[in-house]
Amino acid sequence: MSFLSLRSVSKSFGGIQALTDISFDVERGKIIGIMGANGAGKTTLFNVITGHLAASSGQILLNGSPLTGLRPDQVCRAGIGRTFQIVKPFPQLTVRENLLTAAMFGAAELRNRHEALAHCEKILDEMGMSHMAGSTAHELTLSGQKRLELARAICTGSELILLDEVMAGLTPPEVKDMLAIITRLHRARGLTLLIIEHVMRALMELSSQIIVLHHGEKIASGSPREIAENPRVHDVYFGEKK
Ligand code: ATP
Repeated sequence: MSFLSLRSVSKSFGGIQALTDISFDVERGKIIGIMGANGAGKTTLFNVITGHLAASSGQILLNGSPLTGLRPDQVCRAGIGRTFQIVKPFPQLTVRENLLTAAMFGAAELRNRHEALAHCEKILDEMGMSHMAGSTAHELTLSGQKRLELARAICTGSELILLDEVMAGLTPPEVKDMLAIITRLHRARGLTLLIIEHVMRALMELSSQIIVLHHGEKIASGSPREIAENPRVHDVYFGEKK
C-alpha cells in the first residue's frame, strides 16, 4: 500500500480550476519533487493534502485512510507536517518555544514539557540550530526563519513532511546548507518528503521522482533525468522546445 495516495483530486476557486484530476502515489521514505511555473497549483496541492483547503472532488489517503474532512490540526496529528512558503512562526516566541508548540500539539503529542523539550533540543542539534534556540522568531534572518519553519515541521513528529519553497530567497551557500540539512534529516529520520522548489539544482539533487504541474494538471512525472529531458516540460516550464 502507498503511504500517500491522491486519486483524481480537483480543486476550483469559482471559475479558476487550480487542480484537475491529480493522481499519484508516494512510497514511504521517498523524496518527491513538485515543479511548475507560478500559479501551476503547487501550493494548492499542499493545501488540499493538509486540510487547509477542501478538495472539490477526489480522495487523499494516508496509509490507506482517507483524510477527507479533516482539519489541518487533525491532518498534522495523522502524520503530515508542512512548511509555509511565507513563513508563519509565532513571531514573539523564541525558536525553542515555537518548536515546543509543534512537539506538544503535532503527531508527536509530547504533552510532558520535559519530554517535549528534549525532543526539540535534539532536532535543534541535528539541524545545527542550538545557538538560535533562545532568539525570538522575528529577530531571525530569512535563512533562520526558513530553518525554523523546517524544524517546526520536523518537531511535529510527522513522517510525511511537505516543504513549500524552503530555499526561496536564500543565497547559494545557504541553499547548500539547507540541502545538507534536508538530506541528513531524511536519512536519519526515515522521512517521506514532498518538496516544492524553484531552485532546480536542489530539486534535481534531492528527488527520486519529480511531478510537474501546469495550469493545475499533472503533465509529467518521472526521474529527475526523465524530467530534464522531457520536451513538454521544456516547452511549458522553460518556455522553449527541446
Ligand atoms: P507559486 O509558484 O506562485 O506559489 P503555485 O503553483 O503554488 O504558484 P497556487 O498558489 O496553487 O500556484 O495557485 C494556483 C491557481 O489557483 C492560481 O491561478 C491562483 O491564483 C489560484 N488560487 C490559489 N489560491 C486561491 C484562492 N484562495 N482563491 C482564488 N484563487 C486561488
